[in-house]
Amino acid sequence: MGQQFNALKATELYCPTCRVSQPVRERAVESAGSRTVELLCFRCRTVVGTHTTTEDRSFSGRLARFAGRLLRGLG
Ligand SMILES: [Zn+2]
Repeated sequence: MGQQFNALKATELYCPTCRVSQPVRERAVESAGSRTVELLCFRCRTVVGTHTTTEDRSFSGRLARFAGRLLRGLG
């Protein structure tokens, strides 16, 4: 009772190979100017998702990303 598992913050995504939602592990793939993070199924290592981040740590860069998120949210 009252047990909490929040410490394990695993994202789960649907894996087409396992045909069930699985926890994912992240694998960063560095390339010129950007960083792609692959989300691999914890069990079978199928890539179930990716997201790319542009390495832009400047304030304007963060602002642009924030504005982009806002715009997508409105769309
Ligand atoms: Zn899988």
